[in-house]
Amino acid sequence: MLELKHIKKYYNVGGTTTKAQDDVSVAFRQQEFVAILGPSGSGKTTMLNIIGGLDRYDSGDLLIKGKSTKAFKDADWDAYRNNSVGFIFQSYNLISHLSIIDNVEMGMTLSGVPAAEKKQRAEDALIRVGLKEHMHKSPQQLSGGQMQRVAIARAIANDPEILLADEPTGALDSETSEEIMKLIRDLSKERLVIMVTHNPQLARKYADRVIEFADGQIQHDSNPHVEHEKTDEFKLNRTKMSYWTALKLSFNNIRTKKGRTFLTVFASSIGIISIAVVLALSNGFQKQIDKTQSEAMASMPVRISQTGTDTSSMMTGTKTKTFSKADHLTAEKSDAEKAQHTNKLTKKYLAYVNQMPKKDAKNIAVTYGTGMNLIREVNGKYKTVTFSTSDPDSNTVNASAMMAASTGIGGSVYPIDRNGGQSFLKTYYKVIAGKYPTSANDIILVVNKDNSVDINALKNLGYTAKEGQKVQYKDLVGTQVKVVANDDYYSKLPTGTYMPGTDYAKMASAAKTKTLTIAGIVRVKSKNSDGLLSSGIAYSAALTKDVLNTNKDSAIVTAQKASSANVITGQTMDNSTRSALLTSLGGSSTPSSIQIYPTTFKLKDKVANCKNKLATPWHDTVRRT
Ligand code: ADP
Ligand code: MG
Repeated sequence: MLELKHIKKYYNVGGTTTKAQDDVSVAFRQQEFVAILGPSGSGKTTMLNIIGGLDRYDSGDLLIKGKSTKAFKDADWDAYRNNSVGFIFQSYNLISHLSIIDNVEMGMTLSGVPAAEKKQRAEDALIRVGLKEHMHKSPQQLSGGQMQRVAIARAIANDPEILLADEPTGALDSETSEEIMKLIRDLSKERLVIMVTHNPQLARKYADRVIEFADGQIQHDSNPHVEHEKTDEFKLNRTKMSYWTALKLSFNNIRTKKGRTFLTVFASSIGIISIAVVLALSNGFQKQIDKTQSEAMASMPVRISQTGTDTSSMMTGTKTKTFSKADHLTAEKSDAEKAQHTNKLTKKYLAYVNQMPKKDAKNIAVTYGTGMNLIREVNGKYKTVTFSTSDPDSNTVNASAMMAASTGIGGSVYPIDRNGGQSFLKTYYKVIAGKYPTSANDIILVVNKDNSVDINALKNLGYTAKEGQKVQYKDLVGTQVKVVANDDYYSKLPTGTYMPGTDYAKMASAAKTKTLTIAGIVRVKSKNSDGLLSSGIAYSAALTKDVLNTNKDSAIVTAQKASSANVITGQTMDNSTRSALLTSLGGSSTPSSIQIYPTTFKLKDKVANCKNKLATPWHDTVRRT
């Protein structure tokens, strides 16, 4: 049925090679229950993933019903996984906001099965695993054993010939484990089941055959099989990739492993949503998924802010609470509080992030909290302007105003790739007027797909705009905004405090003043990358860095560093206000956030590595910028 021939799979990480599969040869019967035993890290999961087509081997061959997979294209692997394989993982991977039956149907959503039949098959599978009464509940209402039954129902709903299970009882108590084992044994009467387990007793009690694994090699096989020549021709039945297959691919990338951070779970769950959207429109299979993963990841940069929220609670399956038999209470932080973290974004940390290989993270955007003194000439007269999108005529503090306050000036920061190029903008954004920015002094105007632009962005730039008004590209492209250095902008009063000046014309021509130009108007190319940068002005991180360098030793910064009172108002202030003021004046070179735009899901491991190496108590958050 299945045969591995001299399969090798090596991982190279930081100069060391791990032989996850070190010349593995083994054959499996069309119907048997095989248990794979072995210590953690011995290569069990890698083998299962190779067998299931979730992972590729480096060399050797995997024969499916005698057919070599050496020349398999992505679409062939998709067809194989979709039609022939069912997967069960330790961590169930159920979608918490869907009902049980929807979770099972999800496996067939796009596989071409008509809706009524899908429902029928899902019901049959749920009855088969003993969950008839629970079909309309949500995963949170089930016990661990029941959740695993749902995952099993989902895996068998398409009636696969091969069922792969990776430590399916790893999170269950022994009684429940036995029940699940009985169920899997039952299912193995109709198909090949290969199950990885930690538990030798369970393996020997239920399986027909036990294979022991160590160091990427088979050490012992209790019931070896020799595959005869091709029996029946294996036909790849190309149907649309199922939604669940897409999910499996994503989940496979986020299987909770030691050292993995929750940020990926969240990033990937967003990726999954994009994948679903794309699959609904396209039959481009793996290629499309690759594209979507990268797009989803781009739209979800790993954002490490000074304070972060851990969003792991979005997924079910890991932290099931059980009834306590204790005679005391335990003091616990609320989930919301636990999710809050303070990150230390030190220079050392930044230096570490910058060592991340370019192939993993093409773009890294560092945002500083520094403000900018901006002025623009409108009808022959200079006035102060901002890049903010908060309503200039309103006193209400809205979210974007708060954002502007915390980041200094508003607007978004777009990343420059680490070779100094504009790969980010060029990949995700199309220029609809003007050109891509070429220097730190080039800024861009980001508009929505329908060519709408945030009216407040225009107002704050000094334009008079009415809702619905048509704005010509030529009136915006080429617009110049001046950034004035602190020393030209503020002057010291005899009282010792500082005041912003009003002679803007003089400021405009001062030596340290920089001229920013709206180089182009851009909008997203693909619907998947919508929302990467918000509508309004975007500028490069290099600009804030420049401004920071100009202002860090300015008179007002030096004075504020020496004073506990506010040097502009003269009022006393608390420490956090003082530090925010100092940051906004350009007196702090600590980044307010670092956004890493990964090329693949692999980045999460690198981030986890950063964390381990520096042992700083930062935590990471992923969120839309
Ligand atoms: P098991 O399932 O037996 O615990 P795995 O198959 O997950 O083991 O891993 C086998 C070895 O390969 C381990 O040393 C693991 O660290 C390494 N490995 C697995 N996946 C990766 C990866 N994506 N990158 C680097 N090393 C990996
Ligand atoms: Mg494993």
